[in-house]
Amino acid sequence: MKPFLFILGTRPEAIKLLPLVWEFQKRDLPFEILHTDQHTELLDTMFAHHAIVPNYRLSIGKQSDLAQTKIEMLSQMRDILTPQKFSSVIVQGDTLSTLVGAEYGFFHAIPVIHIEAGMRTYCNEDPYPEEAFRRMISTVATLHFCPSEDEARNLRREGIPHTQIFTVGNTFADYWNTISKPNVTPKKQILITLHRRENLSYIDRIFDALAELSKELNEYHFLFPLHPNPAIVSCAEAHLRGVSNFCLTAPMKPDEFYRELLRSEMIVTDSGGVQEECIFHAKKILILRKVSERRSNFPFSILVDPEDPFLKNKFYTLLKQPNKESHSDYYGRGDSAKKIADILLKQKA
Ligand code: UDP
Repeated sequence: MKPFLFILGTRPEAIKLLPLVWEFQKRDLPFEILHTDQHTELLDTMFAHHAIVPNYRLSIGKQSDLAQTKIEMLSQMRDILTPQKFSSVIVQGDTLSTLVGAEYGFFHAIPVIHIEAGMRTYCNEDPYPEEAFRRMISTVATLHFCPSEDEARNLRREGIPHTQIFTVGNTFADYWNTISKPNVTPKKQILITLHRRENLSYIDRIFDALAELSKELNEYHFLFPLHPNPAIVSCAEAHLRGVSNFCLTAPMKPDEFYRELLRSEMIVTDSGGVQEECIFHAKKILILRKVSERRSNFPFSILVDPEDPFLKNKFYTLLKQPNKESHSDYYGRGDSAKKIADILLKQKA
């Protein structure tokens, strides 16, 4: 059998693709990995942490121009890959690396397998550029693995044949199951992550609100691992450094971050992955976005427009609200990689 080619470039893609890599290893299925270098340090750390050495590595460095980065990725892939070698390309999510991986498969007539397919806001500006990327990827993918029925429904509505769509849950749950659930003692802690381009226009406003909240709630610890986006880092430093119960840290290793998420009373985030993890654990979550491609109407979650003048009130409403749920199987139970591998093998048979 020719090897599958995993193409990935960011930390969340690693969290969601490694379970499938491990499943392939368990079944002795041939595969190779290409690291696109979209996130250099964050992805290197992930691979090193799990003792995975990618077969191929691009060298992109810090780039701000999406079009130029895309051209660079495709041209380096042309130089180092032999397309005839691969049976399929496997990509996850909606990053530039995902799009480039899908296009690479399409240009070389290699079937494209898309994990976490079908997420939509139907607004190309939010999230930008990911929403448009997802839709482009869906047009060239051969098999679409959806995290829930909501995404499968989107794809069916868009005319993708039913036989190419599979609802399998989300592989982030497999990742957490594999690296084991730590025992944690709950803490009066609010965990924060912010990284979205769309929120940069409101970032002063968001940080002012967070600074006020932390001063009003001085019995709480506010923990904010900073995404290495320089605009976020400098703004967070300016607004929040020096607030006594506010802790700004470097990005955390996934298991450390997971432990902090589990022990926190509430999470404030604009991250899609963190939103899913909160849904999985029924953790109170304030989602700071205008729209979300993920379901956000759980009793323990609120979607808040960062421009909303009642942002702080909504924070307090959620914080005070009792939460009876402790787990949700909306994204499956952590056996998605196994389901995906079973389907892939059946398709090849
Ligand atoms: N995460 C992490 N360390 C951190 C912050 C987040 O390992 O300091 C993990 C988190 O558990 C989740 C993922 O990173 O699985 C989310 O990534 P991110 O917010 O960068 O991207 P998104 O999910 O919005 O694409």
